[in-house]
Amino acid sequence: MSGLNELYQELILDHNKNPRNFKKIENADKLVEGYNPLCGDHYTIYLNMDGDLIKDIGFQGAGCAISKASASMMTTAVKGVTKKEAEELFTKFHALVTRDVHDNNEANIEELGCLGALAGVAEFPARIKCASLAWHALHGALNSEDKAVVSTEDSKMD
Ligand code: ZN
Repeated sequence: MSGLNELYQELILDHNKNPRNFKKIENADKLVEGYNPLCGDHYTIYLNMDGDLIKDIGFQGAGCAISKASASMMTTAVKGVTKKEAEELFTKFHALVTRDVHDNNEANIEELGCLGALAGVAEFPARIKCASLAWHALHGALNSEDKAVVSTEDSKMD
């Protein structure tokens, strides 16, 4: 195992043990529930917006280590950015975890900073939904009026 992989694994364990922004936001502007029935991951994401800016974000819920670490990393990555920037990160992160691992293009990993820690998930198709759940929920929240429920089984989403 390379040193980078060890570092990434530590990051995932740390975010799972000490999830960032693990809080309920009272009077949140947007609230979305994300559910991954295949693994049992279930989170609620709270957003406070200032126009197009994500002013505050929090999440609550439970699930496997990958889903919780990913949700924690997602909140730190999008707090304080615009809706457009958050959607761009979602697109890049989604491309990273659903990439063809045989076509080993590692170029995007470093660009994504700590989100790149989840790059290895692409090798485990059953865990991709765990890693992308919080992002799909965020995407749903940013594109809904106020409340939404997002399930990984509602559509063909990964
Ligand atoms: Zn999971």
